[in-house]
Amino acid sequence: MSLSDATADVLVIGAGIGGLTAAALLQERGFRVVVLEKSRHPGGSCSSFRREGYTFDAGASVFYGFAENGRSGTLNLHTRVFRRLGVLVPSVPDPVQIHYHLPGGLDLRAHFDRARFLGELSAAFPHEAAGIKRFYRELEAVYDILSSLPAGSLEDPRHLLSVGAAYPAKTLALALKTFRSMGRTARRHISDPDLLRFIDIEAYSWALQDAIGTPLVNAGICLADRHHGGINYPLGGSGAIPRGLVEGLEKFGGVVRYGAGVERILVEGGAAVGVRLEGGEELRARAVVSNATIWDTFNRLVDDSRFRIPEERFLRAPSWFQLYLGVEAGVVPEGMHVHHVQIDAWEGYDQPGGTLYCSVPSLLDPSLAPPAHHVVHAFVTDEAERWEGLERGSEAYTRRKQSMEAELMGRLEGLMPGIGSGVKLRVSASPLTHERWLNRYKGSYGPLLKPGQNILLKPQNRTALKNLFAVGDSTFPGQGVIAVTYSGVSCASLVSSHFGRPLVALE
Ligand SMILES: Cc1cc2nc3c(=O)[nH]c(=O)nc-3n(C[C@H](O)[C@H](O)[C@H](O)COP(=O)(O)OP(=O)(O)OC[C@H]3O[C@@H](n4cnc5c(N)ncnc54)[C@H](O)[C@@H]3O)c2cc1C
Repeated sequence: MSLSDATADVLVIGAGIGGLTAAALLQERGFRVVVLEKSRHPGGSCSSFRREGYTFDAGASVFYGFAENGRSGTLNLHTRVFRRLGVLVPSVPDPVQIHYHLPGGLDLRAHFDRARFLGELSAAFPHEAAGIKRFYRELEAVYDILSSLPAGSLEDPRHLLSVGAAYPAKTLALALKTFRSMGRTARRHISDPDLLRFIDIEAYSWALQDAIGTPLVNAGICLADRHHGGINYPLGGSGAIPRGLVEGLEKFGGVVRYGAGVERILVEGGAAVGVRLEGGEELRARAVVSNATIWDTFNRLVDDSRFRIPEERFLRAPSWFQLYLGVEAGVVPEGMHVHHVQIDAWEGYDQPGGTLYCSVPSLLDPSLAPPAHHVVHAFVTDEAERWEGLERGSEAYTRRKQSMEAELMGRLEGLMPGIGSGVKLRVSASPLTHERWLNRYKGSYGPLLKPGQNILLKPQNRTALKNLFAVGDSTFPGQGVIAVTYSGVSCASLVSSHFGRPLVALE
């Protein structure tokens, strides 16, 4: 197909952070990009929604990548992407990544200030002080490497050769670290079982896997960069990030079509040539990028059994039950931090409902709630299977939601005593909501590697189908807004190289 026959150079299925990042960078590089999003707003799991004067983060609210330091290599990607697009997304620093409330009264805060965090951890485990120092230094070593290597596609030989030639020792050191797990590295330095459980929670809180199942390289990004780039909250809520990406895309002439659900990827002569929308309209392009999960892309959108992804190829992360509350400010204790992880018993912390997550982002951005009020987002893992047979809107479904809401409200009393009496607005979302709103297979957080698998086995941006590329949390490096931003950068870099107009490295 010649370029003149095409609707666009690149069609992107889905306006999640992965899809939008790839789309905006490609459009800025001179490609004609159209993003097709089934819902009416951008951002997917990183979007905001408004109800009765409150602005809620639909999913993500702990954000990396907004710092302005010189040595930032593959890190600080939001800053670098928005700088490239010439878009301003103001954010405020959050001094504590997570306040952990753990069994046995273990109460720990992951401060931006590394010395303060290590000091509090060592005070809780004085007999492990030396091991703690050594283990967290291993994470710093990963950070040191990543903060000097430029971001690009691991599938692009040009990128690999240039990075390898410019930084041979660091590239080799990083390659060796991809074989290591965070948990096994911890066990080289630490033996206290309670401390090892804390390290499991440090991994589980964002990776949904214990430390043994979490690659050291991922841990190095999340648990070291929080003390360098730090955690920052975008003013206006999580939706400010996708809105900024859409602004950048549109500024260079790109288009997002909302309410445009893709039902099929069109394949001709063994290559992707376009898509068919739910209403039957067909659009054609030189390349298609899918921001849907790997299961949705290959088991629903591509109609060819040769490309099917069997369920057992990856671990399927669970889905979520989420509660969004508008509350009177009086129920939020003085000095409360923004993000919390609460576990009542170690037994089953990784089972559905075992870990309670809670965020109060209006502590950082009061504009999210009416004066003298706050927004509270509380959530636990859950499984779509546990809701099977419950018709949405039915009495049984409503009863189930109410019982989950009551359970979460009870647990929130531990963080905010008396919260029940201060609730002004209550909205909840089940795994079925997550599945339906985001078109995510079983509402899953996404595919996870099996323990021991090398992180490089995570699917990359190139797929088995010619001219079909993948982006988002099914691809390397994985879940999390900054991770999918990386995948968007690497996808844009691969697609642009593929068409002979390589991306200029982000500064
Ligand atoms: C409850 C929760 C809390 C989280 N907390 C954090 C956090 O604090 N920090 C953090 O960094 N990460 C967090 N995450 C993870 C993070 O939000 C995700 O990993 C990331 O946003 C996923 O981005 P994505 O681009 O891969 O996909 P998605 O966000 O799933 O976006 C995909 C988009 O594609 C659209 N789409 C799908 N199929 C089609 C189709 N066929 N046609 C058209 N459009 C389609 C969807 O509507 C959606 O808009 C959280 C996630 C959840 C659910």
